[in-house]
Amino acid sequence: MLFQLFVETEVRDMGSTQTHDKCPRCDYDYAMFDFYYRIQAQYVFCERCGYSYKHDQEGEEESFGVGSFRVMPVQGAGVLGSFDKLEDREQFLKDFKDGKMVDEEGKQPKELTYTFLENGEWFIYDLVNDETKPFPTLPFWAEEDKEEE
Ligand SMILES: [Zn+2]
Repeated sequence: MLFQLFVETEVRDMGSTQTHDKCPRCDYDYAMFDFYYRIQAQYVFCERCGYSYKHDQEGEEESFGVGSFRVMPVQGAGVLGSFDKLEDREQFLKDFKDGKMVDEEGKQPKELTYTFLENGEWFIYDLVNDETKPFPTLPFWAEEDKEEE
């Protein structure tokens, strides 16, 4: 499942209210809950485990996923999504190693990460820098808020 990641706050003019709450799957406190009141649609996405839930005119859909990924190109909006199965994650890594994750100008994304669970702990793997870190307790936007204070 794919989600467009709106980094620009002006894009919020789509009639949505965005909040965060505990993820029903992994208990992460910052799963994103989007409610689009104009079209009566509810979306939930957990950036840690990749859990997603969608309830709109087409019905209800829940996906448990095996981790999430984030792609931030040099220009334009980033993409956030989840892997439905481990093979998808392996393919993602393979595509990166094969140099397939580039934009029209052949530029590698400035940020490319995915999350994974190991021994009960969530980690985030940074493909660009080949670095693995524990998944942060606070999401990136909460950290940015803190820096602005
Ligand atoms: Zn979760």
